Amino acid sequence: MLANKTALVTGSTSGIGLGIAKALARQGANIVLNGFGDVEGPKSEIAALGVQVDYHGADMSKASEIEDMMKFVSARFGRTDILVNNAGIQHVARVEDFPVDRWDAVIAINLSSAFHTTRLALPAMREANWGRIINVASVHGLVASAEKSAYVAAKHGIVGLTKVTALETAPTGVTCNAICPGWVLTPLVQKQVDAKAAALGLSNEEAKKVLLGEKEPSMQFTTPEELGELAVFFCSPAANNVRGVAWNMDGGWVAQ
Ligand code: NAD
Repeated sequence: MLANKTALVTGSTSGIGLGIAKALARQGANIVLNGFGDVEGPKSEIAALGVQVDYHGADMSKASEIEDMMKFVSARFGRTDILVNNAGIQHVARVEDFPVDRWDAVIAINLSSAFHTTRLALPAMREANWGRIINVASVHGLVASAEKSAYVAAKHGIVGLTKVTALETAPTGVTCNAICPGWVLTPLVQKQVDAKAAALGLSNEEAKKVLLGEKEPSMQFTTPEELGELAVFFCSPAANNVRGVAWNMDGGWVAQ
């Protein structure tokens, strides 16, 4: 379905981003990976799916590096057809204790980076009259939790950016939507499981149950594979007129 399309997935060396990159690759899209840590492993997993894959190591907190990455994708593949804004970090502290540098980093990586990639990808998408922008927000783009001020502010912000981008592109073949996962067991969440296990003197399995029990009636983690299939749907012809939604996949978290 996505042969001859190129997808740039930010923060795709791990977790949800890698799951989405693999799902798009399975549909034939060429992939540009981004993120820190091991690059060769994710690259060979994508190459094994029979598509072209490349990597740019832009730090998503830096506008100049994002500009460089967008030029790299255009030079390598012609343009970014599918943009998945996924890179994100978390920091947990009460507002009055929140380190200012962590606030700035969360807002830059989880919100401002999507503004930069979107503004730079849109001209070529408009010219082609086809494009898909998928913002990985969170249930925290819809509801709040204590001690996550920067994250909740950034995720509510990216849901807002999604709606504005969807309105501005509404008469075109470019769509913009957000995905709002509940708990997904990635390194970002394992850190929170570890913190709970340490604070309450629990095993890893017990801490996972406590974490799920606080928020997710299904008592199940959503998987990167499931989120990847939602991204594939947003890229399909059936989703041509799905614009500006913030679609939660959260085991019932925000239904409560
Ligand atoms: P993760 O830690 O597994 O992956 C984060 C990715 O972002 C990694 O590839 C990392 O290298 C990259 N990254 C971090 N800082 C970066 C930077 N400055 N520049 C470039 N890349 C950077 O986390 P994840 O859980 O897969 O999170 C992915 C997205 O999903 C985030 O936006 C997160 O907020 C969102 N999300 C996660 C959950 C969850 O439960 N895990 C729930 C809702 C939303």
